[in-house]
Amino acid sequence: MQKKLEVYFSFRRRINAYRYIEWLLEWDQATIAPKASAKYRSEQIEVLSEELHKITSDPKYIKVVDELYENLETIEDTDLKREIKIAYRKSQVVKKVPKKEYIHYQVILAQSTAIWAEAKEKDDFSIFAPILDEIVQYNRKFVKYLQTEELKGYSVLLDIYEEGATVQKYDEFFDTIKEELIPFVAQVTKKNKFKFNKKLTKNVYPRHEQKQFSKYLTEVFGYDLSRGYLGESLHPFTSGVISDDVRITTEYEENNFTANIFSTIHEMGHAIYDQQHDPKYNGTLLQGGSSYGIHESQSRMYENMIGRSFSFWQLHYPKLMELFPKQLKGIDVVEFYKFINQAKRSLRRTDADELTYSLHILVRYEIEKMLFEGSLKVRDIPKKWRQLMQMYVGKRPLKDADGALQDIHWANGLFGYFPTYALGSAYAAQIYHAMNEEINVDSAIENNNIRLINAWLKENIHQYGNSKTPEELILNATKEPFNVHYYIDYLKRKFGD
Ligand code: ZN
Repeated sequence: MQKKLEVYFSFRRRINAYRYIEWLLEWDQATIAPKASAKYRSEQIEVLSEELHKITSDPKYIKVVDELYENLETIEDTDLKREIKIAYRKSQVVKKVPKKEYIHYQVILAQSTAIWAEAKEKDDFSIFAPILDEIVQYNRKFVKYLQTEELKGYSVLLDIYEEGATVQKYDEFFDTIKEELIPFVAQVTKKNKFKFNKKLTKNVYPRHEQKQFSKYLTEVFGYDLSRGYLGESLHPFTSGVISDDVRITTEYEENNFTANIFSTIHEMGHAIYDQQHDPKYNGTLLQGGSSYGIHESQSRMYENMIGRSFSFWQLHYPKLMELFPKQLKGIDVVEFYKFINQAKRSLRRTDADELTYSLHILVRYEIEKMLFEGSLKVRDIPKKWRQLMQMYVGKRPLKDADGALQDIHWANGLFGYFPTYALGSAYAAQIYHAMNEEINVDSAIENNNIRLINAWLKENIHQYGNSKTPEELILNATKEPFNVHYYIDYLKRKFGD
């Protein structure tokens, strides 16, 4: 066994080195790299990923992972046990999907985003449909190769992004959302006719001051810049490899200054999670977070529950006024609070607010489910999209650019991924409830002591990295299994007001 572990560790060491370089090139590309360097860099990335694929598909590697997995009971260390399970899960893709098909699929994916962008720009779904159909076909095959006795069909894809998730579990989750949230949203958005001061909606907020406020936020939230970095990109994101190197980006739109505030806070939520795992996981498969859903629960908790709370702005609004004295003159904290918590029906997911967000995800979930059940054809997606948007969000897009073409995810081959966004918000509400039972969260926010919140999250969630499954983590942190009603109650309380 010891020999086998040594072989495994030596492979892991090489894999980590390649991944780190790839990660660095991708970070560079998304942030400061000159546009002109794109071609040269993509050639290098191609070589690197070929090399990496050679290592992860090396028969010696596959064999040692298989053997360790078969002898799992002889490994005492529970972390190592979990790591081998994860390595085994990952190796299934390499093992079961024929290499030719896998490479062909990568070629399709490399072309698809440009085709999607053109289709979106011209508002013409028929441009995107053929390649999307190929991507779906591939994923159907992928499902066939990977399905097991317990996991079949679309559930195979759901489980990739949220370990343990199935169609049955998500159906239950979304059924509750349909029953409870759709009528509530209709009620809230009907009477919401508040007219905001034009200073908030139509004004210029210079990027220099926005940058200062972002910097201020990193201090307020305790995002450790000695192990992180605040950069800039068109679409904000978090990217980390080990707890000592977790970077975020934000955006600065001069006519939409709250986008900067809330994307900075959102990404810091992801980053603080990654920075706070036990450093012993660095360099192992247990570094980072547990699942996409759990990760999103942290970013949304920081963004929505802390960052959009009245307690938070009571304390920090004066700082914002100090940076934007002309723009915010005459606007009090109550109006600002209402402004950042508006609930309205929108066409685009990225414009959706906290209340209506999961309904946008519901539309995508049902379409994906139908695609993999075989009851929907790719060319019929736009029609189905309009129909479901009308039913669930109460708004029907006139253009596919605002409908089925709005997101890049499917062009990237991401099926089964969207639902984790909604699940994350629901996890967040349950975790927030449990945290409130043990510490006074509001008073921590009012006293500029978000570090107390960070410490609770570290103790109950963050320290574990990926050493627990989402189900284990929720049970461990909240002392009960996942329960969607915390989410419904939270939304009804907040938006009922
Ligand atoms: Zn996020």
